[in-house]
Amino acid sequence: MTNAAPPAAKTPPEAVKTHEFTTQSGADTIEVGRQLAKLVKPPQLLILRGDLGTGKTTLVKGIAQALDAAEADEVTSPTFTLIHEYDGTQDGKPVKLFHLDVYRLEGERQLETLGLDELLTPDALVLVEWGEKFKSIKKKSTGEIAITSTGGDARKITVTLKE
Ligand code: ADP
Ligand code: MG
Repeated sequence: MTNAAPPAAKTPPEAVKTHEFTTQSGADTIEVGRQLAKLVKPPQLLILRGDLGTGKTTLVKGIAQALDAAEADEVTSPTFTLIHEYDGTQDGKPVKLFHLDVYRLEGERQLETLGLDELLTPDALVLVEWGEKFKSIKKKSTGEIAITSTGGDARKITVTLKE
């Protein structure tokens, strides 16, 4: 089996910007989220990738806080509700922050019920935990935030933005 596309069919590689952070606590990761809120301009669909408990939801707390969209303790995991929506501002302009967790969704058919395409308006910042599970989300994504545990409470956070 081969999954390599023939060279002629390849699209030119997208320009990619990466940013790396290391954190030692949940509070650190919230702070990184706050910094990311300045860096990431709507419209964006970002996949939040990382094992359970690495801090994906924690990072969103910082992003929401910096956008004046919600206090950190108001941001909880959308594991069961699938989507949480917040209204914020960035550079004086309104931003819609959508926080999704698609861990429990099985298959593209179930995913369609979420109406992800309708969320991605010009003012939207869509953050999807476990988005890498779905080919369609990967295709639409404008980047990825990957969190890995590097022992104890230490984390490495790698942000990759297609430009
Ligand atoms: P996920 O959404 O990836 O499942 P959560 O953000 O819900 O993870 O939970 C991460 C847990 O790990 C929180 O209880 C948080 O306080 C704790 N934690 C410890 N160290 C860190 C760190 N460096 N970054 C993020 N969370 C951390
Ligand atoms: Mg989570």
